[in-house]
This record gives sequence, C-alpha cells and structure tokens, in this order.
Amino acid sequence: MPTLAERDHAVLWHPYTQMQTAPLPVPIVRGEGSWLIAENGTRYLDGISSWWVNLHGHAHPHIAERVSEQLRTLEHVLFAGFTHPTAVELAEQLLALLPTNQARVFYSDNGSTAVEVALKMVLQYFHNLGQPERRTFLCFQNSYHGDTFGAMAVSSRGAFTQPFWPLLFDVEFLDVPVPGREQEVLKQLDALLARPDVAGFIFEPLVLGTAGMVMYTPEVLDELVRRCHQHGVLCIADEVMTGFGRTGPLFASELLPREQPDIMCFSKGLTGGTLAMGLTTCAAPIYAAFLSDDKMKALFHGHSYTANPVACAAALASLELTRTEACTQQRQRLAAAHAAFRQEIEGLPGIRQVRHQGTILAVEYDPGEGTSYFSRLRDAFYQLAIDNHVVLRPLGNVVYLLPPYCTTNEELELLYAVLRQMRALVLDFLPAPTLPEYLHD
Ligand SMILES: *Cc1c(COP(=O)(O)O)cnc(C)c1O
Repeated sequence: MPTLAERDHAVLWHPYTQMQTAPLPVPIVRGEGSWLIAENGTRYLDGISSWWVNLHGHAHPHIAERVSEQLRTLEHVLFAGFTHPTAVELAEQLLALLPTNQARVFYSDNGSTAVEVALKMVLQYFHNLGQPERRTFLCFQNSYHGDTFGAMAVSSRGAFTQPFWPLLFDVEFLDVPVPGREQEVLKQLDALLARPDVAGFIFEPLVLGTAGMVMYTPEVLDELVRRCHQHGVLCIADEVMTGFGRTGPLFASELLPREQPDIMCFSKGLTGGTLAMGLTTCAAPIYAAFLSDDKMKALFHGHSYTANPVACAAALASLELTRTEACTQQRQRLAAAHAAFRQEIEGLPGIRQVRHQGTILAVEYDPGEGTSYFSRLRDAFYQLAIDNHVVLRPLGNVVYLLPPYCTTNEELELLYAVLRQMRALVLDFLPAPTLPEYLHD
C-alpha cells in the first residue's frame, strides 16, 4: 500500500516546489491549537500560522460551529442582484473598525484578487474622471502583493517572477525606507511625484513579509502617504498579512499618526485561516467616481464565489474572537515575549539583526558570506526546525516567527529554542536545546 505522501507525489503539484528534488510532503491529518498532527501521530508546532493565515489555532470550535451552521442555512448565492445577511453583517462590522475614511467593501477570493481589485479601482477611478494618463503605480523594491499578473507587476522583480517579466506592466520602485534611509526614499518619491502619470502607491504597511519581514516606521509611511495625497495619488495599504492584529493593533494602518490609506486589501487572517476570501475596501470619493447613469463606469469585476456566505460566516466568527479582551492579551503576551527574546539575542555573534513588530519576530542570521533564498543554510534551518517538531519557512538567512495568537508561553519557548539552535548552527559551537518532555518519542 502506498502511503498518503506517495499517493500525493503521484498526482499533485505543490506551490513554490521543485517537484523533482523536494522531499515527500508531511501528511497532516488533524489540527489542534497551534499544533499540526501528522498521520503517524507526530506533532508539529505551527510557528508561521500555516503561511500567515491562522489566528486562533487550528480547527477552532467556535469558527467550526458558525461555519457548519451557515453551511446548513445558505452555502452560496450569486452576489450580483442578490445579497445575504453574513456579507452585510461582516461589511458593517469591518467598516466600524477600519480607519474612518473607509466606506465600501468589495469581496473577492484571496489576497491576490484583493490586490487586483484595488489596482483596477485606482485605474478606473482615473479613467472615469477623464484622466486616463494617470496609470503608473509606485511600489517598494522587494515587495510582494500576490501571484496573479497585476499583483506580480506591482511586486519585486525577483527570481520567482522572472519568466513573466516581459508581460508585467511597468511600475516605479522605491527603496524600502528602513531606519536610516528615510530621507533618501522621500527624495525618490518626490522625484516620481513630479511626473503627471502617477496613479497609485501600493505598500505593505510597516512589514514587508516575503522580503524577509523587513520593517519600517509608521512615521515615514505617514510622510510618504501625505506626499502622495498632496499630488492626488491614491494609496493602497495591502494588509493581507498585517491585518487582524498581526502587528499589534487590529490593522497596521491604525499606527499612522495622521494619514489614512484610500484603499485597503485583506485576506489571510480575515477568516481566521479557515477559508479563502479576499476583501478590498475604499474611501467614499473612490466609490463615488464609479456612480453614473453610464453603465460603463461600473466596476466590471467579480468572481463566482464573491462574498461566499460560508467564508463570510468564518470571518464573522474569527472577528468575534479577535475582538475579545482575551485575544488582545494573547497578542500583548506574544509581543512581550518576542521583545524579551530580542533583548536576549540581539548583538550576539551570528546574529546580524533582530526585528520585531507585534506578534511577528524576525531573526536575520549572519552567515558570513552572502546567501540567498536557495542557499543551503535555508534548507539546513528548515530541517533543524522540522527535526525539533516545529514548522518554520526561513527566507534565506532570515527566520521569522508568526505564530497563532493562542500559542502558549511553553510553545513559544520551543520556538525560541529552535532559533537559538539555528544560531548554534551558524556558529557551530552552541549545544543543542533539549526537547520538552511531551515531545520525546
Ligand atoms: C500573501 C500575500 C498576498 C497574496 O495573498 P494570496 O491569498 O496568497 O493570494 C498579497 N499581499 C500580501 C502582503 C501577502 O502577504
């Protein structure tokens, strides 16, 4: 009898995976809190919330309850000409929590589609206003906004998108205004804003995830947005990763001292990591530019599963959990633990930099010579984590923690122990950490 992993290998094609050389996938049959449980009973601590989606732990009973209730009531209905209670309820609740200028909610399927919708809103906004020459987007070097074509176009021209470069529309890249480089980047922006064709600026607020959890301050983002607004350039906050408490507050954009984004994109944590859904919100003037007696000024975008009631129910259930005092305390506890761990290892040999924002911690190791995503170090880090029953996906020499909010202090300690052991791997002298009792085979 072939194993589940062997059957998988015979028929499946996995994302971001060189199928010829990749080891067999780990077959997971159950989830529970921050743990993933394999077919053979081995438990793995999910240190990255299953690609940044999970907030409250796996197979959460409250979300499961609301989802199954919705499945037995209304599983789906087309969303043109029809509506349903969970879509309305979710939009009302979100708008009450988002920056005050956000006025409308547009549903789609995932983070990439949320970004596509945002880009199309910006382009058609200027088209509808009779300024079609405004069609250039600004974005950060090394940014990531998704894998569909528009989203790829506003993302880094990295190795992953190289086969498609000739077909990606032109954008203008700004350097990331990391501490110490703010003035330089503001100058780059000023030069670009002098042009008449700039339409929008899309950014991952405060943390560039795929770039390696690269962080910059709310103050410099506020200034970038302010200068864009002075030139009538629309600002898109891609909160697909940062939304729903990841960076501390409910939304990273809340940390901007004065400005508000014109458009916001959400997915990932939106449903607590249960179901795929995307959502784009916008300020009133953008929505107003699509109102007309002329049908052709409408936003002609939609997906078969737009505003799927089951996904909306999962989002409502997750939001209910996220808004509890208990969840706020969990996030504060994670942030405090990360801060303490940062203090412990910052400045030690083998550590180049430690970055921390809310529930996200990133350790940039110093491997001596230059490394890349494909480096052997990355594979060694990955294997070390798995050997310690921990799921992490290092980005080259950067290893980050982005755990579900329910992760306990004891579980956090296991994650930190692995990060310490990675430093030992880099230095090749520290002793291995001991596994907690309950993980001994
Ligand atoms: C993951 C991500 C996306 C893409 O979302 P998908 O649901 O994977 O399509 C877009 N933007 C950011 C910032 C992301 O982290």
